[in-house]
Order: sequence, then C-alpha cells, then structure tokens
Amino acid sequence: MALARHTMTAPTDIRRQLFINGEFTDALSGETLATLNPHDNSVIAEVALAGREDVDRAVDAAHQAFAAWSRRGAAERGGILLRLAGLIEANAEELARLESLDTGHPLRDSRMLDVPRTAGCYRYFGGMADKFQGETIPVEAGFLNYTLREPVGVVGQVVPWNFPLMFTSWKMAPALAAGNCVVMKPAEITPLSSLRIAELMAQAGLPPGVVNVVPGLGTVAGQYIAEHPGIAKIAFTGSTATGRRVVQASAGNLKKVQLELGGKGANIVFDDADLAAAVNGSAWAIFHNQGQACIAGSRLLLHEKIADAFLERFVALARSIRLGNPLDEGTEMGPLTSAQHQQRVLSYVEVARAEGGEVLAGGRAPAAEELSRGCYVEPTIVRARTPRDRIAQEEVFGPFVTVLTFRDEAEALAIANGTDYGLGAGLWTCNLQRAHRFARELRAGMVWINSYKRVNPGSPFGGTGLSGYGREMGFDAMREYTQVKSVWVNVDARIPPHYPR
Ligand code: NAD
Repeated sequence: MALARHTMTAPTDIRRQLFINGEFTDALSGETLATLNPHDNSVIAEVALAGREDVDRAVDAAHQAFAAWSRRGAAERGGILLRLAGLIEANAEELARLESLDTGHPLRDSRMLDVPRTAGCYRYFGGMADKFQGETIPVEAGFLNYTLREPVGVVGQVVPWNFPLMFTSWKMAPALAAGNCVVMKPAEITPLSSLRIAELMAQAGLPPGVVNVVPGLGTVAGQYIAEHPGIAKIAFTGSTATGRRVVQASAGNLKKVQLELGGKGANIVFDDADLAAAVNGSAWAIFHNQGQACIAGSRLLLHEKIADAFLERFVALARSIRLGNPLDEGTEMGPLTSAQHQQRVLSYVEVARAEGGEVLAGGRAPAAEELSRGCYVEPTIVRARTPRDRIAQEEVFGPFVTVLTFRDEAEALAIANGTDYGLGAGLWTCNLQRAHRFARELRAGMVWINSYKRVNPGSPFGGTGLSGYGREMGFDAMREYTQVKSVWVNVDARIPPHYPR
C-alpha cells in the first residue's frame, strides 16, 4: 500500500521493505534505517537496509530474469514502460506528496516537475524501445555487415537523494527499454518513491527480477554493487569523491561505468541581457530544489556594468522567496534534505566570511519558530573576492550562490572555465553571435542560452571533467545501455577463401 494513504500520526508503524524478485522482503540481517521528514526531522518510515547478501539476492534475481526479458519483443518491453507512465500519472498526487515528504521538495515542484518529468521519461523510452536500431555498414563486396544493439546485462544503478523519483526514471527507463535487468540503490535517506515505483512497475506487468530495489548504505550496498562480479555495468549519480570510489571498485570485472557527478555551474549575465529575465532565470538556476542540483547555476558571473542593478533586484527576489513546509501549497522553497547537509551548507557561509566574502542575503537558518526543527537555509547570496576562493570552486549543493564580476568576454570565459567541473552553464545576452560563440567555448556538457536548467528526455544530459562521463537521456542513453555486436555474412559464394587449395 502506498505511504501517503497511511496517517502520519504513528509514523514509526510504517515499514518499507526491499524489492527483490518481484516481492517485498526484509533485509536478511533484519536491519532497518529510519527515513526522516526534513521539515521537522520526524520519522516517516523504517526502511529495510540492504546488506551485501541482499545485493547478491537481487543480482541473482536479475540474472534469472535476464534471458527472457532481453529476448522479449522490443515493443512489448516498451509497452510495459508506457503502461507505467500511465500509472504514474494516475497516482500523480500520491507520488508528489511522497516525494515532497521524503526530500523536502515543495509540493508545487513535485506536482509540476518531478512527477510529470518522471512519467515523461518512462513514456519517452517506452516509445524508444522499438526504434533504437543497429546499422548496415557498406563493407567490401561480397559481404553483408550489420550491427546488433544488445543489452549489457545486469546493470547496477546508484542514485543520490536530490531528485530520487526523477533520477531513478532517467536510469531505469533506458536500461529496461534496451533489455537490461536492474539492481537499483536509492540514497539511504530518500528510498520511498523508488520503492513505490517498483510496486507500480509490477502492476504495469514488469516480470519479477527485472527490477530490484535495494535501499542501503552507500559504503555497504552501493560499494558492493560497484564491486559485484555479476554486474556488467554501473550507472552512478552522486558526488565526484564517491564517483572515484565507484571507478576503483568497478575495476575487478572491468564494468562499463557511467558517471553523473558534481558541478559548479557558471551562469553568466552580459551587459546586453534582458535584466528582468536574467534575474528571474538566475534565481531559478540556483534556488530551485533548495539549490540541491548538480546543474545549479551556483556561480553567478555578472558584467561589471550591470552588476549593481542586477544584484539589487536579485537580492530582493531572494528575500521574497517563501520558505515553508513542503506540503503547504504556497511554499516556494522547502528544507534541505537532511540536517547533516544543512550544516554542511551553513559551514560554507563561515568559509565565505573567512576568505573575505560578503554575504548579501541569507546565510543562516530561518528564524521562524515553525521551521526551527527542520533543515532549512535561507536563500543565500555571497560575493566572492576572487574566482579561486573556495566558495567559487567547491560545490556547496544548497541555496548558496557565489557572485563574481567580469569586465569582458575573455575574462568571463576564463572564470567560467576555471574549475575542474564541467556540467551545466548558462548565459544571458541579446547578442546572437556572442551567445553561440560563447556556448561553443564553455567547458560544459549542457549550455542554456537565455534560460537555465531545462531538461527533456530527448536531450543528452551529462558532463565532462570532474563532472563525469557518459550521457543520460535520448539516443545517447540507449547507446550507454547497449553494446554493439558486428555481424559479418558472406553473401557471395564466389569469393575465394584466404588460403586457396
Ligand atoms: P554521494 O556520492 O554521497 O551519494 C550518492 C549515492 O552514492 C547514494 O546512493 C549513496 O548511498 C551512494 N554511495 C555512497 N558511497 C558509495 C560508495 N562507496 N560506493 C557506491 N555508492 C556509494 O552524493 P550525495 O551527497 O548523495 O549527492 C550529491 C552529489 O550528487 C552532488 O555532488 C551532486 O552534484 C551530485 N549529483 C550529480 C548529478 C549529475 O547528474 N551530474 C545529479 C544529481 C546529483
């Protein structure tokens, strides 16, 4: 039964189990971990905590399911994903509430973005399943050469806590469309929506074992998925530090690895930009989801001519954002997803002060009594002294934007490209040539012009440098979840063999 149907007055009665081989089951150790509501840190549910032996069970189930699933007609596989998209829409309100409860996303965002994007992702890849095809290659006379796009096998998928519903769809939808079986590990602090999706997958007709969901600690279940000899590929989204560990752990059986890691997105406003649009868009770029987004525009680069006018409006906008219980209809910004993360974000305000930064807005937990037990941080704007400052280089992953100014295009580009990350970047200008010239020069996997943070299941998503490698979404994702087999056929019996007798 779905969580939202329970009353929240006796939260510790609510239990959730692992999903292995089509059934909900306790961890073999019997261990559980409480998942908390970041609005007040109350317990929402006790969730079974997968250990290595549970990961083994999940991998076994996935292997058992693989032969039949990978041989199913592609349209049939796609049909299941299309039914799932419909079920997500039919249960949209419940899923939105569940996601908001577990993560702190304002309900408004969960309804308008997380749930529709999740349904849209399953629908896109449901439709893609029978349209992704191999090629025939024009090789030498007398031969036919064609390629098959075969599933990789059993894939491990590990996701973070910032967009659990959406990120599980970005990974599971293409994997399933391509005929793989999945062992999915959600983040230990936000496991609820992926367990509910597993239930809906079964309802949509997904056979047992094709998807297994094993909430567990990253250092135990996550690490073991990365090491596991029975897993052919790992797709990981999370921090750069953990990404490195995943790569090391994957070396044992030379897994295929796909990494979506951290970012320090440059959002550049030129002096010819539409200022009102740029102010609004830049607030969205950093404050949506409390800034907990890898692609967040967390470095705001302002042309010195418009910096003061821009900041006046930007600070006013940041101060007007309504913080509150994510489940309240009027809330525009919720809490961060955990108390530990709240402390980490606030610690960067101290870092900023220590290195001579100027706090222009926020910089603390809100004073309101009704928010005092939650993981809230006010929208925070800090002017850095130099682009090399820690606050201009390190990913804060919160409602914390670092402001820098520039004199000309060359300086803007040097600052923008002056980090080891390379995920998302944005620029605001009315000069068409500059826009395209700059988009080309930016070291980033995604660039938005006069916009920020657009995503679509058809558009490749991923980064370069310390932001990782591989792409989610679109045809690129199908390539990531398949391997190519090249088949040679002698179609002309007159061709002599190499060693004529
Ligand atoms: P994290 O790396 O701590 O955890 C991510 C996931 O990895 C969790 O499920 C965790 O349990 C698991 N994990 C932890 N240790 C592991 C290990 N040794 N082996 C395998 N798995 C392990 O990251 P986080 O703090 O949960 O998430 C925030 C980070 O994720 C930020 O750096 C953010 O930029 C990044 N992120 C990147 C993208 C992207 O698409 N590039 C998207 C969202 C978030």
